[in-house]
Amino acid sequence: MNTVCKHPKVRVVAREEDVEFVECLDCGEVFDSNEFRDMQIEDLQDEEETA
Ligand SMILES: [Zn+2]
Repeated sequence: MNTVCKHPKVRVVAREEDVEFVECLDCGEVFDSNEFRDMQIEDLQDEEETA
């Protein structure tokens, strides 16, 4: 079970003072939105390098 999920669809499940927790609708993983933004940025950089 090593399916790579890029979490294309997420919803906010909890919000604290400066952290938002989001849940992936595809794999159900919960993480904070700061982490999610980091992943998206890495994704964009990868695409630029391979283009
Ligand atoms: Zn996911």
